[in-house]
Amino acid sequence: MIIKELKGLANGANIINLYGWVDNVRDHGGLTFIDLRDFDSSIQLIFDKESKITKTVKNEFYIMVSGVFNQRDKNLINKKTLFGDVEILIESLTIINESKTLPFQIEDGIDTDESIRLKYRYLDLRRNEMKQNIIARSNTFKSIRNIMNQLDILEIDTPTLIKSTPEGAKDFLVPSRKSPGSFYALPQSPQMYKQLFMMSGFPNYYQIAKCYRDEDSRKDRQPEFTQLDLEFSNGSPDLVKENIEIIVQHIFKEAFDLKIPIPFKTITYNESMTLYGTDKPDLRIKETISDITDVFAQTEIKFIKEIIEDSGKVLSLFTQKSLSRKEIDLLDEKIKNLGSNGLGWFKVTDNEISGPLAKILLPNEKQELIAFGDGLIVFQAGNLYEVGKYMDILRQEIFKDRVEDSTSFLWVDDFPYFEIENGSLQPSHHPFTAPKDTDIFKNNPNESKALHYDLVLNGVELGSGSQRINDPQVQKLVLEKWGLTEEDIGERFGWFIEALSYGTPQHAGFAIGIDRLVAEILKQPSIRDVIPFPKTQSGMDPLTEAPSLINESDLAEYNLRYIEDEQ
Ligand code: ASP
Repeated sequence: MIIKELKGLANGANIINLYGWVDNVRDHGGLTFIDLRDFDSSIQLIFDKESKITKTVKNEFYIMVSGVFNQRDKNLINKKTLFGDVEILIESLTIINESKTLPFQIEDGIDTDESIRLKYRYLDLRRNEMKQNIIARSNTFKSIRNIMNQLDILEIDTPTLIKSTPEGAKDFLVPSRKSPGSFYALPQSPQMYKQLFMMSGFPNYYQIAKCYRDEDSRKDRQPEFTQLDLEFSNGSPDLVKENIEIIVQHIFKEAFDLKIPIPFKTITYNESMTLYGTDKPDLRIKETISDITDVFAQTEIKFIKEIIEDSGKVLSLFTQKSLSRKEIDLLDEKIKNLGSNGLGWFKVTDNEISGPLAKILLPNEKQELIAFGDGLIVFQAGNLYEVGKYMDILRQEIFKDRVEDSTSFLWVDDFPYFEIENGSLQPSHHPFTAPKDTDIFKNNPNESKALHYDLVLNGVELGSGSQRINDPQVQKLVLEKWGLTEEDIGERFGWFIEALSYGTPQHAGFAIGIDRLVAEILKQPSIRDVIPFPKTQSGMDPLTEAPSLINESDLAEYNLRYIEDEQ
């Protein structure tokens, strides 16, 4: 019997057999109390005589007990637990399996190092707060499948041993034993396969897909993650967005009992960068960035003058809050760590302006800044797209106590096709995304926009998608403008361009990060808290110690061997 089936049993009911873990043991002289826990409940067991066996029972032993059901006296009811009004008077106890001394307590709110929790993840998952996270994840999967069935979208799987065609991050590679020297890659996403389904004539597709990207783990990144991947034949951005809104609304309701309004608001990439300094703004903070470049049109502040002459901007945030010098220094440190030259600021108090640069302000500058009112003006000067990231952090830090307790969804679209990453041109989404205007793209790819849209939830990029290229010539053109040689295109994407060449319908799709979605709804500090067996920041699994070295003879079967480290 499981504990939750006890509800409704009569006092003194027949002998009951229960299985579970010992949650704790309390010895009160002649009486011993054990809290017995199973998957979803716990109940107090009472041993009314000194029993030898109870003396040896410790936390997390798995036991079987037989006893009689008893209603507790009214004044002894423990209102904190579901079965606090009943107990079992024990007649016999059998130890099914003992437990070694625990590395941490099985309780909520422990401050054990995460690497220890991950090493003993099977114990960590016994803790109620972790168990609830995993149940929420499971409910999310269930609600996804329910809505997909309602929408008549086909669940189809795709291979995970594929050709290496990096989409931005580095691939995880798998050596082939049968073709020595050759490698498969693990998919960064099912992107090309889901497009192949459209070429194969399927009307739509979805998959709860594992994706693999060999990049540094961060708070909301893992080398292996799970996404809800979708594609619609005859699709357009509007059709995809409408479906995603219905799907997300359904997941919130069914899996989390939360109501969210649709449709979601949409802003363009440029609006987002101008108002928030980022393409994933948290709209639960209402304050936006102001462009105060005009205030400094005649400025004598040398670095600002130079930046404005170089078409740069002066971007500011204003708060009526009076921040201390220490708080200002902390903001300065935060953005300097990200690469800023430092925080610019002016303080206005009773029509007086202070701050490191206040003395060299022109009278009209003083006047215009004082007009903001009493409070603090912080600013960054430079290229809008470069200083945006500092303004984004400042906005989040300064107004962190003004984050509204709501759920804020936002579509961001009209992205530039290419962006510069570490000095090289990268598609802002992936190279299968259709340019907004092929002619503009042909002549001026750097100025061209992409039919790419992101979904942002509370400042977190929840998902991305795009209209796809369905014309083989345009696909080739994009790869060329990306900088690939004819040979590279043939070698890496020739098969895909060939597949596009047999009557491919227009199609569009999307992918939602499921780990991020669940972590955000449950307000968890990291996506690792909603993934049953995540990797550490360095990509390690402390439980199994993967990745691990392979012995030389096994390697030889793949025609591989270790080489001496040259250093
Ligand atoms: N394949 C893309 C990704 O995983 C999403 C999409 O465009 O559908 O980021």
